[in-house]
Amino acid sequence: MKIGILGAGQLGRMLALAGYPLDLEFTFLDPATDACAAPLGTHLHADYEDESALARFCEQIDVATYEFENVPAFTAGFVGGLKPLMPHPRALIAGQDRCSEKQLFTSLGIPVAGNVSVDSLEQLRAAARDIGTPGIVKTRRFGYDGKGQKIIRGEADVAAAWESLGSRPLIYEAFVDFQREVSMIGVRAADGTTAFYPLTENVHRDGILRVSTPRAHDALQALAEDYTLRVLEHLDYVGVMAFEFFVVGDELYANEIAPRVHNSGHWTMDGAVCSQFENHLRAIAGLPLGETRLRAPCAMVNFIGEVPASDQLLAIPELHLHLYGKTPKPLRKVGHANILAPDHRTLQDRVAAVERLCRS
Ligand code: AMP
Repeated sequence: MKIGILGAGQLGRMLALAGYPLDLEFTFLDPATDACAAPLGTHLHADYEDESALARFCEQIDVATYEFENVPAFTAGFVGGLKPLMPHPRALIAGQDRCSEKQLFTSLGIPVAGNVSVDSLEQLRAAARDIGTPGIVKTRRFGYDGKGQKIIRGEADVAAAWESLGSRPLIYEAFVDFQREVSMIGVRAADGTTAFYPLTENVHRDGILRVSTPRAHDALQALAEDYTLRVLEHLDYVGVMAFEFFVVGDELYANEIAPRVHNSGHWTMDGAVCSQFENHLRAIAGLPLGETRLRAPCAMVNFIGEVPASDQLLAIPELHLHLYGKTPKPLRKVGHANILAPDHRTLQDRVAAVERLCRS
């Protein structure tokens, strides 16, 4: 079967790596000349709204999917009109605007922090007063890895935040004093079958994911699955979806969904019976879903900006190295390591060893 992927970054690359053993073939469409998935398939080097390139893309494939959430509506409509596009574009629309995303969660009975849309300096002042400080003001669209957001600690921060972000539609959110950040990676097949990975604990620094650790028997597993299932069913979703939550006590507050394979699910490549990448492909290719069970205590460490020396990393037992073939650049995700261990204590020691290498 021929799979078309809109985008050819590291997620596309890891999808292709998971797909070759299933005899799947890949065509990517991506305007970047140095797109890191390109060596793994046919790369159509064109703009996402280039109609003739999109037509060629569709001629070469049986089904289409995407590896980023900001696929233009025109592109999704064009491709979806010619070939099955999964997840359905309604999943893109659901996640592209932070305000409508939060409204969707609320309509499905999923708790969210207090929030309001903001279109003027006066509205931002009122939001900070009504919802309270601290809070976070974010661009409603195109934000990622902490980009396009500012913390407002008090009235005095409002004007500067407006100055830096106010040219775009914004959302003001109450700052959630969370104990943990977690994500649920779920997958749904076209026949409605679903599978969920163990709830994963995520540590961010400067808004960028650094370490993900799946928890085999987290007390919030069932609740996270329930919330994720509500969204999957509402969207009649096919493929892998990630749902990020804040944990406060025994409650989950929804942060955001990503209609795609997700960085916090990269540990599944080595730590789960079937990876998120293979499961996404199985779902869109109409194959049975694979087992999501954790094989052993496991964690993922992201490499941001640069990768430590491979010989030092690979000297750590049960470490699996995944490099993306990208030119190192500050704040750029260039690879990750998945680390397994016989027990949690050993896992902590191994993760600490990787983190020491990251800093040296
Ligand atoms: P986001 O782009 O919305 O995922 O935000 C990036 C990171 O900023 C999150 O992973 C959190 O660490 C932090 N963050 C975002 N929104 C909030 C919030 N309302 N309260 C507390 N921390 C937040």
